[in-house]
Amino acid sequence: MLEAKFPEDPLPLIEITVDNTSHISLRDLKSCLLCANKPCTYICPSQVFEWEEDSLKINYSRCVECGACQQICPENIIWEYPRAGYGVTYHY
Ligand code: SF4
Ligand code: SF4
Repeated sequence: MLEAKFPEDPLPLIEITVDNTSHISLRDLKSCLLCANKPCTYICPSQVFEWEEDSLKINYSRCVECGACQQICPENIIWEYPRAGYGVTYHY
């Protein structure tokens, strides 16, 4: 029987090369003001989105490129892959 072994903490397998411009933006901040539960702030596994003083802060340097925000708010979050040479590198 095959047995898979994984490290207890998977994050050391990820390296992020941060670009100086964000690969994540919003279509309309007004929609965020009207958004009742602001699911992006708890769906993102890396806490990229933070609600601060009537504004949505986007900590794009933390993005692990999982795609969850595109599932939860495709109408307002514009997400693109980081430019070539930036973003997540996986070390296996
Ligand atoms: S980005 Fe989308 S989910 Fe997040 S607060 Fe704005 S409208 Fe709501
Ligand atoms: S792709 Fe994943 S990690 Fe990046 S902002 Fe969206 S939910 Fe967060």
